[in-house]
Amino acid sequence: MTGFFRQGPALVCDGVPLADLATAHGTPLYVYSAATIAARYHAIDQAFADYPHAIHYALKANSTLAIARLLRGLGSNADANSGGEIEVARRAGFTPSQIVFTGVGKTAAELDQAVALGVRSINAESAGEIERIGARARALQTRVKIALRINPDIDAKSHPHISTGLKTNKFGIALSDVPELCERVRAMPAVEVVGLHSHVGSQITEVEPLRRAAAALVQLARELRGRGTQIEHLDVGGGLGVSYDGRRVPDAAEYASAILPAVRESGLSVILEPGRQIVAPAGVLLTRVVDVKPQSAGKLFVIMDAGMTELIRPMLYGAFHRIEPVVRTAAPEIACDIVGPLCESSDTLGKDRIVPHPAVDELYAVLDVGAYGSVMASNYNRRLLPAEVLIEHGRASVIRRRQTLEDVLALEA
Ligand SMILES: *Cc1c(COP(=O)(O)O)cnc(C)c1O
Repeated sequence: MTGFFRQGPALVCDGVPLADLATAHGTPLYVYSAATIAARYHAIDQAFADYPHAIHYALKANSTLAIARLLRGLGSNADANSGGEIEVARRAGFTPSQIVFTGVGKTAAELDQAVALGVRSINAESAGEIERIGARARALQTRVKIALRINPDIDAKSHPHISTGLKTNKFGIALSDVPELCERVRAMPAVEVVGLHSHVGSQITEVEPLRRAAAALVQLARELRGRGTQIEHLDVGGGLGVSYDGRRVPDAAEYASAILPAVRESGLSVILEPGRQIVAPAGVLLTRVVDVKPQSAGKLFVIMDAGMTELIRPMLYGAFHRIEPVVRTAAPEIACDIVGPLCESSDTLGKDRIVPHPAVDELYAVLDVGAYGSVMASNYNRRLLPAEVLIEHGRASVIRRRQTLEDVLALEA
């Protein structure tokens, strides 16, 4: 068995007791399973094995250098969403041709960086951005490959904050604008349209919106070919969800069977940009109970040493994460709100949970936080970014040390 499971009463990561890690490295602490990341990467790669494809792991889900390096070692390419992520990809060893660059507001400096580097494709978001890419390419006397990010006006049926494929969202280019835009790009010697791209949202738990988006790209590629623009690849983005609460969600094989039939007839190679699907279940956040506080209104609050500064998803998206004692006790079960220590009432990790009556200093694990967890951590309340540990072949290594106040204050006058 790999990943996070119980040996007797104790939660372990690939055989390593989480309680030992918390003792050695302190809390709050992120712990990742390399074996889980590998298994989930391979599941996607296998599902698409009989068709030309490239996985460009979406770094924004978790871009700690060691995680990026691990994925590169597994054969992954990279999807970068900022100049910082491009640089992280480079330092993790990805070559420029292994990087695609996406982002709704790429600055002049970021475009310069991507153009000078010669990334595989810049996923362009607007007519204006294509003009700017052309200008940068001319200035640097080079040619740039772009993919057009399409807004297919498809409802991903995910949380509104992470849906991106509706025409009311800020992302992408309307389908109907694409043919004319391609005409204009044909007149730009420094820019070449090589792909069509779409990414309709995140934590999508049914394949139908993803299938429809892929089908829209296929249809558009066919139309463009008729007009003289030859597309080389279709980039179907990421977005496939994971199960946070144990309910069934589509797996990689079902995802592939939804996408591939439409794409196969085009003969075009596919780029996939999974983020969450690969890393979410590969991480936990370890946190200790600071106080157990019955309030007069009858509610029990369990106050932890981690909150919205370490994991903002519950507050930002109303996201649900399972929260479990690391070592199960025989204490009678009790209903409580599991909350963080910050001065915000929204600082709640889990509402109305049933757990064995918690005790001060007891260790808890917040599950499935490998994606959009650590990367969204902040220094609010002058809190320090937590340390991160990776378990690989039964060995724990610190892949990011805990931030110190000196680190934070080093930036200040
Ligand atoms: C965020 C993002 C992804 C990854 O999304 P997941 O839901 O984590 O798979 C992929 N592509 C683009 C363009 C993105 O913005």
